[in-house]
Amino acid sequence: MSTFLSNPLAADTKLGTALPRSGSQNGCELVNPPQTAEALAMIIITRPDATEEQIDHIVSRIHKWGLRAEVSRGEMRVVIGVIGPEDKIREKPLGAFPGVESVTPVLKPYKLVSYEFRGMPSKVKVGNVAVGGKEVVLMAGPCSVESEDQIIAIAQSIGKAGAKILRGGAFKPRTSPYSFQGLGKAGLQLLAEARRETGLPIITEVMDTKDLELVCEYADCLQVGARNMQNFSLLREVGRTRLPVMLKRGMAASIKDLLMSAEYILSEGNFNVLLCERGIRTFETMTRNTLDLNAVPVLKAETHLPVVVDPTHGIGIRQFVPAMALAAVAAGADSIMIEVHNAPELAKSDGEQCLLPGEFEDLVCRIRGVAEAIGREV
Ligand code: PEP
Ligand code: MN
Repeated sequence: MSTFLSNPLAADTKLGTALPRSGSQNGCELVNPPQTAEALAMIIITRPDATEEQIDHIVSRIHKWGLRAEVSRGEMRVVIGVIGPEDKIREKPLGAFPGVESVTPVLKPYKLVSYEFRGMPSKVKVGNVAVGGKEVVLMAGPCSVESEDQIIAIAQSIGKAGAKILRGGAFKPRTSPYSFQGLGKAGLQLLAEARRETGLPIITEVMDTKDLELVCEYADCLQVGARNMQNFSLLREVGRTRLPVMLKRGMAASIKDLLMSAEYILSEGNFNVLLCERGIRTFETMTRNTLDLNAVPVLKAETHLPVVVDPTHGIGIRQFVPAMALAAVAAGADSIMIEVHNAPELAKSDGEQCLLPGEFEDLVCRIRGVAEAIGREV
């Protein structure tokens, strides 16, 4: 099982022109035109005894037809997802190739995101950390990057405790325009320094298309926050990069809305997407949000994309974060994101919900226990 390295949508450049963008570090170059609305996805499942030559033959013929193919290799079968304009795909005799067992259209509106498009879970690599395999990957760090001392100290402590990815916001979406808005570029530079110090890859939010190129220069994974889940122009632009993107569920968004938003990113050719449940607004007022753990098994069934849970924003109260983190692992999350701060009372954002480094360390031990109980590891 491998991360998508090839781009199923990249073969055809007639539909549009990639936007000009200088600098190709970190996969930030725009590579791909938008997919048309009439696109269709077909799934070819090969026979268990199909040979490599037969599979190569199918894929090269699909390419010759000007269609796109995404090959996913399972233990028994190879699944070839074919994407292209509906009229063009429908006229092709895909079932006639030797080695083919079945050909079925993807009926879900979220075609590329749907589980059947791959027929197996995807792994997404953030730096050199794979999310979506047996390991439950821990992401941790402060809500906002505030200073060099703060981010380096927190990065060191969470790394020592077992976190594999450092989080921290440099561009902060705040409810009030008078609240701390993040350090911007200086925050990104501090994150890069923390990465140098600890070796941890970094995830940080991009709020606006105008900042994308800058954020791409520093981030190992882009976060699209809850408030931007349906910012379709931002989704399309992060879809044209090749950086992993963690898409957070909007606070008033359904699970299907989340899947459709992810489809925007994949339809631009970027399959490196993580979906994050971070709590939704309900009538409940005793907690900041209601962490919808229903979403975890539902997403795992509906999509091949890895699922992250953010219990910190989900419940919003430090004391209750560990319980929900453990529950998220038990529910099947591939990754857990936790806010950690070394001086929460001084935090410039979300101080009331972040764990202290020692509390995070304890939580990691307990998460390990739950992960092992369900056949996973930390
Ligand atoms: C965050 O991760 O700090 C954040 C602002 O998240 P969300 O978009 O889920 O509110
Ligand atoms: Mn936060």
